[in-house]
Amino acid sequence: MKEITIIRGDGIGPEIMTAAVNVINATGVSINWEYQDAGLTAIEKYKDPIPQQTLESVRRNKILFKGPLTTPIGSGFRSVNVALRKEFDLYVNFRPVRSFEGIQSIWHDVDLIIFRENTEEFYSGIEHYIDAAKSAAEAIGIITRFGSERILRYAFEYAKKFGRKKVTIVHKANILKYTSGLFLEVGQTIAKEYPGLEINDRIIDNMSMQLVMNPHQFDVVVTTNMFGDILSDLCSGLVGGLGLAPGANIGNEISMFEAVHGSAPDITGKNLANPAAVILAGAMMLRHIGENNAAERIESAVRKTIKAQKAVTKDLHPSSFVGTKEMAREIIANL
Ligand code: NAD
Repeated sequence: MKEITIIRGDGIGPEIMTAAVNVINATGVSINWEYQDAGLTAIEKYKDPIPQQTLESVRRNKILFKGPLTTPIGSGFRSVNVALRKEFDLYVNFRPVRSFEGIQSIWHDVDLIIFRENTEEFYSGIEHYIDAAKSAAEAIGIITRFGSERILRYAFEYAKKFGRKKVTIVHKANILKYTSGLFLEVGQTIAKEYPGLEINDRIIDNMSMQLVMNPHQFDVVVTTNMFGDILSDLCSGLVGGLGLAPGANIGNEISMFEAVHGSAPDITGKNLANPAAVILAGAMMLRHIGENNAAERIESAVRKTIKAQKAVTKDLHPSSFVGTKEMAREIIANL
């Protein structure tokens, strides 16, 4: 039996994680879910957003299935999501973006992957006001040769292994000549070791426009932390929204699987949240632990459910929809 640490998370977290666990259990895979707390629930229970026993459980099990965690805006405690990625050195954020049949989205047949560097730059938390009057603030975004090399190499290796043709390095090296410039320079240097791949680069602003105008020209995208965060949400919008976007955070020892979206306070507790993103993240997790058959069954059940448009949540079909629980039940019926 595989032991997996699970954090249900804040906001819509408990609703969608319950749905995902029900779907995964329905495949018959043998998993012992070790429930742990982090975020707001952990603060309430232990006065600590990341309790020691949660960290120990993840270190022991090596796999974390995580619901979204709320981060206060502007003040309050720092992001627990960012802290977990740093704590376990989950330097790869792997976010596939694929179209779904049956979805009224602006593009169809999109199939691209975003690799986002997950530990450096503006999310490092080196940020402060310069004086007591808070007259100005500064953030320091550090990009290292080591950090750039490992994410770029991971993306190139992935493209080579899975028969992808093209990798686009996204940066802002025209303005951020040293930080983004270093990332681009490392990418262009390593690219020479991959003659079978077409490796090009785009400046982030142009890239954003090109993705909206014609996403089909892209295959694999690799970029720094903040650009990757923003592009992931943008790309989810191309294919039907955040309710369909799964992700994996991968390190050399530990991996964490979650949806791209956050805790969605605007729809919390209303049985409105689309569970598909986190269910698909669960399928990625199953593939990661070698349960390929269960992963494929889940992915095709999600696709079938979405294509039929009979039991999907409001974000996918605003005029006729079901709740989170009912959509999960339909996915289970389609397994
Ligand atoms: P969000 O992703 O929670 O929500 C953005 C919009 O998408 C909202 O309108 C929401 O209702 C909708 N949405 C999100 N998930 C959905 C789903 N499964 N089904 C249907 N609609 C869905 O982003 P936000 O509102 O900017 O952030 C809310 C909180 O989540 C913040 O505290 C933020 O820091 C946190 N957050 C956490 C993570 C994470 O845990 N990895 C990621 C992003 C944001």
